[in-house]
Amino acid sequence: MEDNGFSLWTQILEKIKEKVPEQSFKTWFSTTKGLSFTDGSLIVEVPNPFYIDWLEEHYLNILNETASAVLKRKIKISFKANNLETIRPEPALKEIVSFPSPKTNLRERYTFENFIVGKCNQFAQAAALAVAKAPAKTYNPLFIYGGVGLGKTHLMHAIGNYSQSLYRNSRVFYIPAEKFMNEMVYAIKNQETLEFKNKYRNLDMLLIDDIHFLGDKVSLQEEIFHTFNALYGAQKQIVVTSDRPPRDIPSLEERLISRFQWGLVVDIQTPDLETRIAILKKKSELDEINIPEDVIFYIANNIRTNIRELEGSLVRLLALSSLTNSEINLTTAKEMLNSFIGDKKNRIKLKDILKIVTDFFDVSEEALIGKRRTASVALPRQVGMYILRELTSLSLKEIGLKFGGRDHTTVLHAYDKISKMIKDDKDFCNKIDKIIRKLIS
Ligand code: ADP
Ligand code: MG
Repeated sequence: MEDNGFSLWTQILEKIKEKVPEQSFKTWFSTTKGLSFTDGSLIVEVPNPFYIDWLEEHYLNILNETASAVLKRKIKISFKANNLETIRPEPALKEIVSFPSPKTNLRERYTFENFIVGKCNQFAQAAALAVAKAPAKTYNPLFIYGGVGLGKTHLMHAIGNYSQSLYRNSRVFYIPAEKFMNEMVYAIKNQETLEFKNKYRNLDMLLIDDIHFLGDKVSLQEEIFHTFNALYGAQKQIVVTSDRPPRDIPSLEERLISRFQWGLVVDIQTPDLETRIAILKKKSELDEINIPEDVIFYIANNIRTNIRELEGSLVRLLALSSLTNSEINLTTAKEMLNSFIGDKKNRIKLKDILKIVTDFFDVSEEALIGKRRTASVALPRQVGMYILRELTSLSLKEIGLKFGGRDHTTVLHAYDKISKMIKDDKDFCNKIDKIIRKLIS
């Protein structure tokens, strides 16, 4: 086969064709030709020097591998330009590397790697990932909704960041709905509406955060509607987030509601205990701080419905421990977070607690707060006392009075017993967590 560069290169190309996208093959390989093959060195002719740079930079590994596979030994591949003028071919869209990327507003830290997936957000995360990988091909628009601090903005940036790493030159742009409006108002004032329209209508992916802000704002809705149509019509990806589903956004025009529902609407719910623990671990790992397990458990068990607050508690803990030069342990953590957690107490009504506990254990309220010592209500009653102590600032004595006039040592005993069960029994812990989250979200 020695010296038959032409046929060797043709064999190599056949294999390459299976390995690279069709468009790239057409652009970079279809105009090449094997010139000679001597002493283990294959010379390939390419149209101009630009190809040499490109092939060496992007395809040398794959070429070497393929050539060794074909010949069962290593060879050297080099390129020779047919024409010394550097004429840049029309590269496949995804490959234009040196184009200056427009400003994206994306936050680097918000990635899929840093996003912990749990039951509460797995559907939203999977949809987000699918959209990032194949923009405008899967779910368009993608509408993500959920309560405050549950990761909507994070997921949205993750879509943008990941998508841009895959398609380097796609024009991705993130903007909160409120800012979008400010820009629009500014453009109208300064007679720059054409620029404004062009900016948004030439994107490949538009990420609009907190779109519930649109409710009541008629002119903003109008502009979003047209932007939506332009992008959607040109098969560009749109992602929006909101604190509630499209239909619940007050005064949102029907035509926008229906458009938001064209694609996929997904929600994010409050995280369960395991997810909260995983998030705290991930954050401390990212910030390179060492937090003992029992402290993580304590925080996760006391901050239940907002991931931003989970993070806030870590920041607080870290700040205080470095200020006072003390190590982070359960005692300091309890002290430091006390006021933080304490703020949340007292918003919950006894009536609601009793209702949820009786529903959950399927016992009657009379039995729960009654004087009888029936065994079947002992545990529900202790749980009731525990929750009252956790979520309100009632004293032990006051709690005892609410539960059939029992004395404070009984309440303390119940509290300690349930606390211990929560620590020792994962299933039980999840149950209590569920009850409490229901109450506070
Ligand atoms: P939202 O936009 O829903 O109000 P954010 O996306 O701003 O919430 O999230 C609040 C904070 O919690 C952010 O710092 C974010 O990184 C973090 N966060 C939320 N969900 C997760 C998750 N699943 N994994 C890791 N961090 C999360
Ligand atoms: Mg947000």
